[in-house]
Amino acid sequence: MDIELSTEDLEFRAEVRAFLEENAYEAGTDYNQWRSGWFEKAAEKGGWDVPKWPEAFGGPGWSPTQHYIWEQETAVATLPWDLPFGIGMLAPILMAYGNEEQQKRFLPDIRARKVNWCQGYSEPGAGSDLASLKTKAVLSADGSHYTVNGTKIWTTVAHIADWIFCLTRTDDSGRKQEGITFLLFPMKQEGVEVKPIITLGGAHSVNTVFLTDVEVPVENRIGEEGKGWTYAKGLLQHERTGLAGISRSIVALETLKSQAATVKRGNGTLMDDPGFRAKVAELEVDLMAVEFTELRSLASASSGAAPGPESSILKLKGTEIQQRIQKLTVEAGGIYSAAWGARPVGHGFAKNGMAGYLASRAYTIYGGASEVQKDVIAKNVLGVKRSGR
Ligand SMILES: Cc1cc2nc3c(=O)[nH]c(=O)nc-3n(C[C@H](O)[C@H](O)[C@H](O)COP(=O)(O)OP(=O)(O)OC[C@H]3O[C@@H](n4cnc5c(N)ncnc54)[C@H](O)[C@@H]3O)c2cc1C
Repeated sequence: MDIELSTEDLEFRAEVRAFLEENAYEAGTDYNQWRSGWFEKAAEKGGWDVPKWPEAFGGPGWSPTQHYIWEQETAVATLPWDLPFGIGMLAPILMAYGNEEQQKRFLPDIRARKVNWCQGYSEPGAGSDLASLKTKAVLSADGSHYTVNGTKIWTTVAHIADWIFCLTRTDDSGRKQEGITFLLFPMKQEGVEVKPIITLGGAHSVNTVFLTDVEVPVENRIGEEGKGWTYAKGLLQHERTGLAGISRSIVALETLKSQAATVKRGNGTLMDDPGFRAKVAELEVDLMAVEFTELRSLASASSGAAPGPESSILKLKGTEIQQRIQKLTVEAGGIYSAAWGARPVGHGFAKNGMAGYLASRAYTIYGGASEVQKDVIAKNVLGVKRSGR
């Protein structure tokens, strides 16, 4: 898609490109050193290390177009390894609902990427129906701390996380959305046990977290007791907006096209195959439509509004598109996509293709399953009212 860029926007794009080029990773150099240096230099640019944070908290205060340019430019560059849980998910909640002391205590370390966070929401009996969560937090008689007992599941990076933001139940006498309390606590402490879950693609990223008599000081509670659901709902919309990955999909689709053009098919290549071309064209059209939706979402975000129900459209369509690209990549790589590990077999690009495809099955589950996003869109965008609800 071409959008009309002003002279200032073109200058900004040139500045972003220059920054990304000057600070690109050089093979063979110390990765961790480069990573921390990259974030420091991005911070010196005036909040480029936290592009989505509001200006009041050190963000760059970019216009929607500048955000769009950043997304586009960073999608093609190699960025330092980063986790979304602190920067993209907890930070907005701390800014909106945390007290000043909590903001001062947690935000600088989140920004400096010094502390890894994980998200303790889902439980064996509470996923889509998150408000059914049962992990219990009981306030001590002197009101100084909570004692937490329960099980969290699918907790991404719990095995390398320093802290967890966790939904707990402090009251089960009323509606299930009430009586939920938002707590923060360190992972490396008595009573926290992490067990790995190895997923379909062979990776270890998710875990089960068992919590047994974990003591959490009351000053680690965000906002009021029993109001955690309200805070968590806001956070989910931030999470969804971040999961769509539109700019990365645009780059991935271009890469796929050039890879398919190296695969021989009859007298030409796979890109000459009408069936394959049709699938690529369909993807391109859908991707363009989602890109426009993302621009609308950026526009409302830059005016200070929290992401609205359009974040569900982005999550739903963006993740479906990512899966379709993975599927076509496997189709282009054929049997060689099954190759796993360091050495490619056959088409070089196909290596780990099947592992990537299998891992991508989760995209339409985490951050709210697709069926649930459809429900949100039906109710909040299309205004569908269901009887019996
Ligand atoms: C790789 C991965 C990483 C994850 N990381 C985290 C994490 O870091 N922290 C965390 O807290 N959670 C995490 N999750 C959990 C994730 O949020 C849940 O898996 C998700 O919310 C779905 O819940 P569930 O697995 O319990 O499935 P269920 O809710 O049991 O859903 C099962 C099926 O029923 C469908 N369904 C459910 N309700 C409805 C409805 N009302 N209408 C129509 N269909 C419905 C669903 O769409 C799905 O197809 C992760 C999950 C995965 C797979």
